[in-house]
Amino acid sequence: MEVSDVTVLLDLCSSLSAMDSTQMQISINKYLECVTEAETAVIVPIERKERESLFVQVIGTRKQDTTAIPKERVLKEQLDECKILYLADLPSNSHKELQNFLGTQIKSFVSVPIPANSRKKSLTNGEHCNHIHENDDMSHADNFREKRSKPSEQAELIVCLVNKKNGEQFNETDVKKIKECFRVCAGVLINAFAYEEELRLRSQFQKLLLVAKNLFTHLDDVTVLLRQIMSEARMLTQAERCSLFLVDRKNKELIAKVFDGNILPDGTVEQGPEVRIPLGHGIAGHVATTGELVNIKDAYHHPLFYSKVDQDTGFKTRNILCFPICDDTGVIGVAELCNKEHATHFSKHDEEMAVAFSSYCGLAIMHSLMYKKVADAQYRSKLSNELMMYHMKRPDLNNLEVPEDEVVSLVDNVIPDITRIHQNFASFNFSPRTIPVPDSAKVVFTMFKALGMLQRWRIPEETLARFILMVKRGYRDPPYHNWTHAYSVSHFCFLILYNLQLMQKKLISDLEGLGLFVACLCHDLDHRGTNNSFQISSNSVLAALYSSEGSVMERHHFAQSMCILNTEGCNILENINKQEYTDCLDLLRDNILATDVAHHLRIMPDLVGVAETGYDRTNDRHRSLLCSLVMTASDLSDQTKDWINSKQTAKLIYTEFFTQGDLEKAMGNRPVESMDRERAFIPQLQIQFLDQIVIPVFRILSTMFPEAEATNKAVNRTKKYWDKAGKVLKAKGIPPGNCMDMFQDPSIDDVVISD
Ligand code: AMP
Ligand code: ZN
Repeated sequence: MEVSDVTVLLDLCSSLSAMDSTQMQISINKYLECVTEAETAVIVPIERKERESLFVQVIGTRKQDTTAIPKERVLKEQLDECKILYLADLPSNSHKELQNFLGTQIKSFVSVPIPANSRKKSLTNGEHCNHIHENDDMSHADNFREKRSKPSEQAELIVCLVNKKNGEQFNETDVKKIKECFRVCAGVLINAFAYEEELRLRSQFQKLLLVAKNLFTHLDDVTVLLRQIMSEARMLTQAERCSLFLVDRKNKELIAKVFDGNILPDGTVEQGPEVRIPLGHGIAGHVATTGELVNIKDAYHHPLFYSKVDQDTGFKTRNILCFPICDDTGVIGVAELCNKEHATHFSKHDEEMAVAFSSYCGLAIMHSLMYKKVADAQYRSKLSNELMMYHMKRPDLNNLEVPEDEVVSLVDNVIPDITRIHQNFASFNFSPRTIPVPDSAKVVFTMFKALGMLQRWRIPEETLARFILMVKRGYRDPPYHNWTHAYSVSHFCFLILYNLQLMQKKLISDLEGLGLFVACLCHDLDHRGTNNSFQISSNSVLAALYSSEGSVMERHHFAQSMCILNTEGCNILENINKQEYTDCLDLLRDNILATDVAHHLRIMPDLVGVAETGYDRTNDRHRSLLCSLVMTASDLSDQTKDWINSKQTAKLIYTEFFTQGDLEKAMGNRPVESMDRERAFIPQLQIQFLDQIVIPVFRILSTMFPEAEATNKAVNRTKKYWDKAGKVLKAKGIPPGNCMDMFQDPSIDDVVISD
């Protein structure tokens, strides 16, 4: 080597120390292009832990986005055998790939592997002065080597020269020049790679710490936490979109309610529809069942890809990084990141990030659920104090338990037959509110008997009596939502089951019949005379417990039903088998939740569909819809009775509504019109309620069951009554603020019921 060449090389080497790895590569490439007359020089770092690709940041003197070259297709032989390749040695597929990668025709080519021990050799040989670099920052270089953990004969870098300028092929002299150059420069370049890798790891670590901090500040609300997890995951890996699936073991499904990443033009996040995937299907399903991360470069050509999710959401998936989120019981969720931004797929680094991130997620979700349990336990204890105080204050009930003599007396005085209650008892026009309250428990007992439930479900008479009395005590005494409402709702359910023979005709199962009747009896347990929105606006304990799931009061009614069933001597389901027991509890919950008018309005289109296309008893959804319809019809059945009953109900309902309205006013809120005693005009509100809710319910019921036509006729007649009543009130000049007076004025009744 000429002295002048040595000087140039030493100049290059000393200039490198102030540069980052990209600038170094540019300088070295420039040097190589100059001394070998190559059009382009490229340095390919080899990272061993990256199984499939090589990443190149600089081509010649041009920095570019990191580009991956698939190992399988390019330079594989060289990697395996660490030998020099000339153009003639390049397999044709490697040749093509390289041309694509470099964007130019390759006319001459050489690629030289630089082995890991090249610098050590040079040290022992005593040639050149790269020991300065060895001593410079040995620990980084060692780290880098260790992380890459490769055998000494494996290449650490590959240096390629492309297209010698005068049209000649590259030769041994060019190879020698490369080797000389790297004997001097390899150390500093590799150290730079190692140092930058360390910086990257440090920043990754810092990002993860920040993520942990963010996640752990949202423990109080699991929904907010899940959203946070998704947006963090997306940002960490630069994904276009993230979906988070939670494992629903009971239904063997993965559920994704929210997606992060569909940002609308106004900056808000688009709410996609809830997506459910059978457990085991698709990539997320596979990850959920195996617990292993998958990194998919080309989604549509992957055998596990389940394109239905794209069809459902209108999103086009290119590549996917999908990883499990586990707690100590196993996989609880799966995060699916889609479409790496500005790259063809997710990298090894993204995988690392995902694995570290998923441990934080698992911990955060576990803690969040635990937090909810603790908070719920506190609310429950508050609630039971509240209940105890209420019962202690009631003069008629100084004891939480039902006295045994009441149980015995009920069993001893059972009415043997419904006709002994009233000859018209099983008729749709019978008003159960005419039954004296002291007889009501006996009547409920007789209905259970008449429906054959004692025998069918082997319910001991004493247990049934205790259960009924306990439910009766579980009702408070607001004007409308009290025990009388409960047993009149149960009476209508009895009418349906008894007259339409739903169980005998196998339109519903016996268990569904039991679920309906018991649900009706329990459906408003511990009602406080205020509705769901009041619970939320007044921040009640019930809202704290249930507002995240919706149907606050109904969830409480169901919880109270469970409390009664779990009370010693009250479990009327004690003799049914285990499967039927759990099914029956599910039915009770669904039926009680179905009495939320908001639920009814949601299922109304489906109910209309069933009424139009015909009821199919083998269809689970049809049977569930029918149960919901029976619940709503029973709940609103006061409207199917005579004028006196309808008027009496309205009096009770509006007494209760106006009390809530007064409370709302005292809290500084404006009540809705129907709860505002100064604005409500009852006849008009009743007509609205009948038109919007009640009449459609009974129209569907009588379409499905012509035997129930009397109820449909009755509700339409009730509407006419209210229409007449409204006219009378207007004629008398009674303003909305005074319309409760109508309940004191029997002269209105004469006009209303006259034909
Ligand atoms: P529940 O609270 O389970 O009895 O559900 C029935 C709901 O229907 C009640 O809470 C009321 O909001 C509504 N409702 C029932 N009867 C009437 C009525 N006569 N006028 C207005 N709303 C009524
Ligand atoms: Zn009710």
